[in-house]
Amino acid sequence: MLSLFLSQSVPGGWPFLVALIILIMIVVPALVAFRRKKARKTSLEQGREGEEEVRLTLERSGQPGIFDNFMLVENGRSRQIDHIVVNSNGVFVIETKNLSGQIYGEEDWQEWTQVLSYGKVKNKFYNPVKQNLTHVRCVQKLLPKGVPVWSLIVFVQNNTAFIRSRGVVALSQLPAVLDQPTGYHLSAGQIEEICSLLAKAQANAKISDEEHVREVVQMRAAVEAGICPRCGGHLVEREGRYGPFYGCENYPKCKFTKKR
Ligand SMILES: [Zn+2]
Repeated sequence: MLSLFLSQSVPGGWPFLVALIILIMIVVPALVAFRRKKARKTSLEQGREGEEEVRLTLERSGQPGIFDNFMLVENGRSRQIDHIVVNSNGVFVIETKNLSGQIYGEEDWQEWTQVLSYGKVKNKFYNPVKQNLTHVRCVQKLLPKGVPVWSLIVFVQNNTAFIRSRGVVALSQLPAVLDQPTGYHLSAGQIEEICSLLAKAQANAKISDEEHVREVVQMRAAVEAGICPRCGGHLVEREGRYGPFYGCENYPKCKFTKKR
């Protein structure tokens, strides 16, 4: 009965069915392997990809001012802001989150939770709304008083259903949110001024970041060669209250020290 059914219903008959089964046997394991490979991506790679997706969305949405990977130096610490958008509604400081699974979070929680594999895996991460507030304050310092600066956390995988917080958007909503009226209306001239201030800050941050790296490298090389990076004198080993250290031979005129 079964063989009768098969021989009647399979177009091309048995050879076709066998070929189909073999094809499935090859394709299914290949797909599984591909998915596994995808899952092995590091969180850094995932983050980069997320930033790239947001960058493309912003580019397509035709915003007048877009800054990607905005670096700034504050109190000697360099910070990286994923994106800054400037339009007539103000300045938007954007933090990108490319996390899969379900995300649970509220505005005033210290940590949010990512739930994966039907609840079997739970990862905590620092509340991105709080994280981005620091960035917003840094950007405010670069701009004239009164310029509205908004915080936006963009979830690239659009999994915002379980998040209760203002300033959190799914990537699919981002262009619409950027164009929502905020009660402010910056003129084309103001937008241009803000963009040039940001561009200047960005250029300065690049220089000071490079200088900082160069200084650290130079100092390390000098100390390794036994030379004081501050005055060029010889370094000598000394025994201090907190253990041995290198001091400059010109002490007390030069007070350079370095822990051993
Ligand atoms: Zn010295």
